[in-house]
Amino acid sequence: MSARILFFIVALALGSCTTPTAPVTTPPPSATIPLAISTPRPTFTSTATIIPTITPTPTAFVTPPALGQSANIPILMYHNLKELPRTASELERTWTVSPQNFEKQIAWLAEKNFNAITMAQLVAHFKRNQPLPSKPIVISFDDGWVEQYTVAFAILKKYNLSGTFFIYTTPIDRNRYLSWAQIKEMSAARMDIQAHTLTHPHLVAIVPGEAQREISESKRIIESKLNQPVVAFAYPFGEYNSATIEMLKRAGIASAVTLASGYRQRADELFTLHRIRVSYDDSLDEFAKRLP
Ligand SMILES: [Zn+2]
Repeated sequence: MSARILFFIVALALGSCTTPTAPVTTPPPSATIPLAISTPRPTFTSTATIIPTITPTPTAFVTPPALGQSANIPILMYHNLKELPRTASELERTWTVSPQNFEKQIAWLAEKNFNAITMAQLVAHFKRNQPLPSKPIVISFDDGWVEQYTVAFAILKKYNLSGTFFIYTTPIDRNRYLSWAQIKEMSAARMDIQAHTLTHPHLVAIVPGEAQREISESKRIIESKLNQPVVAFAYPFGEYNSATIEMLKRAGIASAVTLASGYRQRADELFTLHRIRVSYDDSLDEFAKRLP
């Protein structure tokens, strides 16, 4: 077994999206930050400095974005969907939701008339003023765990809601991960499949050429398999910097989601979209309170 594969397995065992080191962008003042969520606020490092798209001055705060330039579009974030033993670690509880709770949450969204939209719809709204349905929401899943088919896809279909799946391509068809057959079935059933690199690397730590390949190739592979455009990307570990954003643009990707918390999204922050993490111990009440 090569060191690279060994590292890969160890990284998976530790949880794939658990150590964000990129800075969290400051949300606009109009954003409502759900109190119940506690996304870690990583420290700035020289290798992961983002260029804010708005200047955080009082002037910028006084003038709200023009109509159509910001919107309340919660992007929920799920990873694993399974029962955990009592002995499960805090880390596992953070990145897992039980199938029962997941169904309660989806049933609640359906009952409250939320409309699940795709990332392409979100992008088209901000770039071309394309109208969105009322109460838009993106229900997103990272990494392509097999439960995202066996649990999430089954429940989403039941409630007639679509999900957005940020998959990384290397483990597809392996144990515990989605297969291409499942992904194709999901895509055909109008699930939204978007990119999350080839191997889930620390994009800000690897050489630029390799990072560009991780981004561009994952987009190309998904598009060739599904014949659907990839317009969105999820940063592995939530890590990015200004160079990462340039790479996404070069690859023809129009938006990206982070681990920063909140539901207010802005047209000028399409590469640093906020998400709302759902965790194992969240009650339905806590879940509901984080949404507009
Ligand atoms: Zn991930």
